[in-house]
Formats: sequence, structure tokens, C-alpha cells
Amino acid sequence: MPRTSREWSDEELHEAIKAYLSMLQQESENRPYSKADVNRSLREGPLKNRSKSSVEYRMQNISAALEELCLPRIQGYVPAKNLGTGVRDRIWNFLIEEGVYLPEEYAPTADRHELDEKTKSLRRKIVPGIPKGIETPKQMQATTLSFFRDPLVKAWVLNNSNGVCEGCKSPAPFTDIDGFPYLEVHHIKPLSEGGSDTIYNTIALCPNCHRRSHNSSDKVEFSDSLSNSLFRPLLN
Ligand SMILES: [Zn+2]
Ligand SMILES: [Zn+2]
Repeated sequence: MPRTSREWSDEELHEAIKAYLSMLQQESENRPYSKADVNRSLREGPLKNRSKSSVEYRMQNISAALEELCLPRIQGYVPAKNLGTGVRDRIWNFLIEEGVYLPEEYAPTADRHELDEKTKSLRRKIVPGIPKGIETPKQMQATTLSFFRDPLVKAWVLNNSNGVCEGCKSPAPFTDIDGFPYLEVHHIKPLSEGGSDTIYNTIALCPNCHRRSHNSSDKVEFSDSLSNSLFRPLLN
């Protein structure tokens, strides 16, 4: 007789998760499979002490655990969030073991570059879901290397632009709190790559063009076009 009251062993849980992930894989590849068949073969094998509905409910628990991580789940298994003490952690541990969930990828970071990298890799992996986030983010005392910048160069480039973006030639999108047209100063060759902080390497850009010059797929070509079109008086 199937007994459902006893707590699931690690082995039982692991078998359920492996079966779930294999169905998920088939679903993602649009290959047909039968939940009822999988349920039955689990009860004929490693889950012989469990009832049909108990196996079904575990599958829904696994959906809930995946959903909390914003990872894809099997659509037919509506998340059952009542995971019980420790069950969520045990499911997550097996998801780690199966390579589905990499905790370090989810770990908060104070490093801007690391954050960008993690964001990039998670975007390729997660589905729309609602991340819990950090209600009260901690602060970290950081020692960063910063470059000395010449305020005069920055002021000159901004004033010289007359409030017009030197990239797209559009007017600054708004006026800043000091009453200046809002544009950003960009280094065509980054300071970190040996670029200078002079008016010959700096350009006033609207936020769109500035982001484009850092993040777009055509940033190299865009940057070249910026430096080619840059007009600057020569120092005498
Ligand atoms: Zn622009
Ligand atoms: Zn920039």
C-alpha cells in the first residue's frame, strides 16, 4: 500500500526531479511525452511507496521551486507553493546538482562589471517571472582606481556643443537642474585603454548616443564615425 505521510527521502526527491527535468527538456523541444506514463513508471520504480497524487504534488512543488528562481517550468504542473520545511532547499540542492541552477550566478554583487556579466548570462536563461530582489541593499566600502579628470575639458566640450548632441545632432533631451542642456561627455578612446582627457578625445553626447557608443552591436563603427566627424580647433 502506498504510504504518503512519511517524509520523502533524498533519493525519492532526486528521482522526481530528474524525471521532471527530463519532461521539461522534452517540452522545450516540442517533443510529446505523457505525464501519466512518467508518474506510473516512477511508482513502478524508485517511488513505489508513493501514491499517484503524491507524485503529482511533488512535481508541482518542483514547479514552484523553479518559478521562485525565475527558471522555466512545465506548464502543466501548476506551482504548489506549500513546499514544507526544508523541501525547497533540498529541491534547490538537486537543481544545483543537475546543473539547472547555479547559485553564484544569482549572488548579489557590488561590482558593477560583475553585475553586468551576471545580468547578461541570466538574461539568456531565465523566463519572465517576478524576482524577489533586495529590499534593503547592503553597501560595500570599495577602493576603486579612478582617473583624474580635467573639469575644464569637460566644461569646454559641453559648452562647445551648444546643447546639441555631437553624435545625432539632436538637441539635448532636457535641461538639467542647473539650467544647462543635458548632455554627457564621452571619451572616444577609453581612459582605461590609454585614451586622453583632452577635447580631442571627448565628445558631448545625448544619453542615447552615449549608451550606443558603449553598448551597441555597432559601437566600433559608431565610435569611428564619431571621431571622424569630430570638429575641434587646434591648440596654438
Ligand atoms: Zn545623440
Ligand atoms: Zn562614455
